Amino acid sequence: MPKPRLAAVKAKPVKAKASSAKKSQALEPLHIPPGVLIGAHTSTAGGVLQSIARAQACGFTAAQIFVKNNKQWFAPPLSDTEAKDFRVARKASGIDFFAHNSYLVNLASQDAEMFATSVKAMVGELERAEALELPFIVMHPGSHGGAGEDAGLNRIVQGLDEIVKKTPGFRCKMALEITAGQGNALGYRLEHLGYLLDHVATGKRFGTCLDTAHLYAAGYNVRTREGYEETVAQVEKIFGTKRVLGLHLNDSKVPLGKRVDRHAHLGEGEIGLDCFKWIVQDPRWASTPKVLETPKSEDMHEDVENIQKLASYLQ
Ligand SMILES: [Zn+2]
Ligand SMILES: [Zn+2]
Repeated sequence: MPKPRLAAVKAKPVKAKASSAKKSQALEPLHIPPGVLIGAHTSTAGGVLQSIARAQACGFTAAQIFVKNNKQWFAPPLSDTEAKDFRVARKASGIDFFAHNSYLVNLASQDAEMFATSVKAMVGELERAEALELPFIVMHPGSHGGAGEDAGLNRIVQGLDEIVKKTPGFRCKMALEITAGQGNALGYRLEHLGYLLDHVATGKRFGTCLDTAHLYAAGYNVRTREGYEETVAQVEKIFGTKRVLGLHLNDSKVPLGKRVDRHAHLGEGEIGLDCFKWIVQDPRWASTPKVLETPKSEDMHEDVENIQKLASYLQ
């Protein structure tokens, strides 16, 4: 995802600000058919528990959160009470929550200190996600910094194996995300994700996450039906749609193959609405949680509007 604009979101103002006619209208509850998992990246400002209230206020059935400040390496541990309150409220809400890691983590780094810090930070994030009983945490594979793609990919494998060793028995999986391929970022080819899944020692601890904006910026033409089908066929061939644990539904501000990561509201970017209709109607993604990572204001009405478009394809 691009630079988030979520920090200011607070749970209570959702209701407090609904006095404005436009916003209260926009925040009318969503009607997502039973069993369909759709939502958005949701702020945890004020504590992880607050994200549940925000997701509920919008009517989400799925949500993605950061388990700590995503711009800092480390955070004080979650208290048992905080974790338990989240688990209880999450179960009661019925909303499918998962996590996204910090942007600082770079397992492809050839620098020993950066690599060690990345492993340690990722272990910390997994510990938090595990305590919250989140099924998986989305992570960007890493950036090779000029060392080359093969060296970078092998470094990531080494890092992932170290993380698994330090988190024995964890149920929270790591979902390697496709990237736009900006700069030296790895993971912009489905084959990169396939390579990582094939080479880690404990494959069952890993899955993938696909982001439509990243796919498109990386050169996968999901704008056309033919390109969409070809892309899903490649996913099936390289690691299988069953290993896709989550989907990020974002339109792209940049054209096909531009290798830049800029998200747009659904239907307002280069991809257009059709792709999102195909995805939500595609039985291969029926049980895969789908979240938006598009710009939003405090009351999150943009998320509700984007999801209303998706819900209309599910009637
Ligand atoms: Zn992105
Ligand atoms: Zn991401």
